[in-house]
Amino acid sequence: MLPDSITTLIAALSKLPGVGPRSAERIALHLVQTESGIVKQLADVIVTARERIQFCTTCGALTEKSPCSICDDARRDGSLICVVERAVDILSIEKAGTFRGKFHVLGGKISPLDGVEPEDLRIAELEKRLGAEPIKEIVIALSTDVEGDATSNYLAKRLARSGLKISRIAYGLPAGSGLEFADELTLSRALEGRREMH
Ligand SMILES: [Zn+2]
Repeated sequence: MLPDSITTLIAALSKLPGVGPRSAERIALHLVQTESGIVKQLADVIVTARERIQFCTTCGALTEKSPCSICDDARRDGSLICVVERAVDILSIEKAGTFRGKFHVLGGKISPLDGVEPEDLRIAELEKRLGAEPIKEIVIALSTDVEGDATSNYLAKRLARSGLKISRIAYGLPAGSGLEFADELTLSRALEGRREMH
């Protein structure tokens, strides 16, 4: 039987994404045998990161200051907005390195079965941006699963207005997966080969 404090630590660690019970146990046993100064430092950087990071009030990206550096960058094309599901998807597209526009994070996909309705997503915020920014094209970069398709079609209808092109990245991303599984070349091609929605 493990001491209570170790059991508690394992339980907390196993709630992290990608950390199964075995990994949680291994990390916990490693931490309790590590020099306490190093463990304290790890705890401090976790707390500091959590305290400093916020969502950009414009695009929804993770940032230390709002608006974020992408929204604030005058060299980027403000007429082109790429709509992604989650803040981390921005990192995938930025790694691909070919997109020069700005972003908008939806915060999820429409999924009635999971209780996610359009009003739970940052769609009203996007409509507000359409009124305030010189946006000419919206590129929807959602995954190619049922929810991604439904959300893309919903957005194409709801956002339709004259002078605005709405496109979706070309299929070529692995079906049913998110952007993080696409390699950089695939992602660049998917963006370049985007198709206008009707
Ligand atoms: Zn931003």
